[in-house]
Amino acid sequence: MVRIMKADSSLTLACSLLAAFSFVTSVSAWNKLSDAGLKKIPSPGDTLNPDLGKLLKPLLIPRVVNTEGSRKALQHFTNFFTDLKWSLNYDNFSMPTALSSDPVPFSNFWATLDPPWKQGENQEGEIGRLVLVAHYDSKIEPAGFIGATDSAAPCAMIMHIAKSIDKAMRRKWEKMQKDGDEFEMADEQGLMVLLLDGEEAFKWWTSTDSIYGARHLAEKWETTMHAAHSTYKNHLSSINLFVLLDLLGAPVPRVPSYFRTTHWAYQHMADLEIRLRALELLESGKDHALFLPDRDKTEFAEGLMIEDDHIPFLRKGVDILHLIASPFPSVWHTMEDDGKHLDKQVVNDWAIIVSAFVAEWYGLEPYLADNGDGMSTISKRGNKTEL
Ligand SMILES: [Zn+2]
Repeated sequence: MVRIMKADSSLTLACSLLAAFSFVTSVSAWNKLSDAGLKKIPSPGDTLNPDLGKLLKPLLIPRVVNTEGSRKALQHFTNFFTDLKWSLNYDNFSMPTALSSDPVPFSNFWATLDPPWKQGENQEGEIGRLVLVAHYDSKIEPAGFIGATDSAAPCAMIMHIAKSIDKAMRRKWEKMQKDGDEFEMADEQGLMVLLLDGEEAFKWWTSTDSIYGARHLAEKWETTMHAAHSTYKNHLSSINLFVLLDLLGAPVPRVPSYFRTTHWAYQHMADLEIRLRALELLESGKDHALFLPDRDKTEFAEGLMIEDDHIPFLRKGVDILHLIASPFPSVWHTMEDDGKHLDKQVVNDWAIIVSAFVAEWYGLEPYLADNGDGMSTISKRGNKTEL
């Protein structure tokens, strides 16, 4: 990633039109976690440690498109989500690049966890999802570039988040089935993890030399129609919120709120950060500068945004929450963007904040385990339990 661009008017129009039909209007209430609930959020413990973390360490290798490192990263995701018993999907495609007129193979990956009664092909048009997104490829230059913040750490954070709420989601659905409740639409949502290939430019960042995976998938999902009269007309419209993590894991991050249309979601996340800090549940400490400082922002500069994997989805009308540090980490696109330069506490805190957001999104408070379901909980940070 990335560069700043000036948005065109069609993009701004897409945003403002969407606001009227935003998913949030169909959610009856936001399920805020109590202080006791926040203390039950599982901690990454050492799993995101760059030197020994089971989730992160295997990703701290060059992951250039169509190389051994890229295939290893994909295998790491496959093994992890197979163990969690999620549904796995691969979008394999080939495209010429700025370096090669011969088509180069790319592979996007996604895994889904859906309510049991919403699984199966005939249900595809009836399931909406929160989607957690990062790119797993790394930049081709400089040779040996790791891209720890860009985006090995965000991928590993998302893996932790998925695991941290997996059992609670299943317990909620079991209870709903047992009780035979009248389901609200918001209670019938699935969760998707989307790990994209080919975000980086092969030469210079342009609209055609960048975000290869995202461009391909947005197009494909827009044209993959569900059965007539489905609640969601195509794969793209099944995305209730596209949460993109990028350039995270460096010290003292600052993530602005980029979009007026999804500022409500940003505010929920920013609230969580403030509360987690006050309860001393974040490793970076009670008095650390806020990662999400824009809770009370009211003025949004129309037109300026950061180009990243969300752009093709945004252009097609998807609601985006873009969690990208601005300014970019000082190590950005240099050999120093490696495990050594990650801030371990910041990495863990991002995972905790976003996990709490997901738990609130799905109303998981009654289903979170006191003991972290075998992971450590953030209230017992000294207790280092490995996955
Ligand atoms: Zn990059």
